[in-house]
Amino acid sequence: MGRQYVIAGNWKMYKTAEESREFVRALAKEFSDAPGLTVIVFPPFTSLQAVSGLDPRVHIGAQNLFFEEQGAFTGEISALMLRGLAEYALVGHSERRQVFHESDGDVNRKLLAALAAGLKPVLCVGETLPEREAGQTLDKVKGQLDRGLAGVTGGDWERVIVAYEPIWAIGTGRNATPQQAEEVHRHIRGTLGEKAPGRAIPILYGGSVKPENSLELLAQENISGVLVGGASLKVDQFSAIIRSGLKLLGA
Ligand code: PEP
Repeated sequence: MGRQYVIAGNWKMYKTAEESREFVRALAKEFSDAPGLTVIVFPPFTSLQAVSGLDPRVHIGAQNLFFEEQGAFTGEISALMLRGLAEYALVGHSERRQVFHESDGDVNRKLLAALAAGLKPVLCVGETLPEREAGQTLDKVKGQLDRGLAGVTGGDWERVIVAYEPIWAIGTGRNATPQQAEEVHRHIRGTLGEKAPGRAIPILYGGSVKPENSLELLAQENISGVLVGGASLKVDQFSAIIRSGLKLLGA
């Protein structure tokens, strides 16, 4: 199989439903479909209805979910509720882990709940700056993968995506060099190969991805796409990153 790229945008707590709809309409005019390209946006929950089904080339994901199906969990949204509105779901984004104190155990329950509901979870992993400086990056990421992916079996692996997002590179303007990213991606590829032999699980890089650095990052052997925060909020920037993927696909 040739190369495949996932270009994903995490909008965090930005954009109303109307702004989200306008964005997807405008984005869809800026790129043409190509074999091997998957474009996903992750709007806030309140925008999912507005963008769901708007354009078949722009896939939709949720930024989070709760692992119970229903119950007395004020303010939470279950995987069951997302069905039909979202195809993908982020789990374990570093902001969820750091600001909302989600543990690897929580992240694992969310990932399994997403899979059980037929969603495609994107498991986010990554080290802090002190962990990188202490030489702990590969161990940290391996631990997050071991705990986050515990209990995934059989055909469910087909729907798993991993995103490597070094925390020191998120929203800081300081991206990992393509070589730094590739080193960790190669390690993740090896770990996933042991867990799910023969499955081509996409591994996305995230952390200050911009039009200017996207081509070189995407050109790395084990980088199968990018998860973009800040630059995914602007149609011109996000579509330029999509075009980097298209260029490498030869489209
Ligand atoms: C993110 O939110 O996942 C992210 C990588 O953000 P940014 O691109 O702004 O660093």
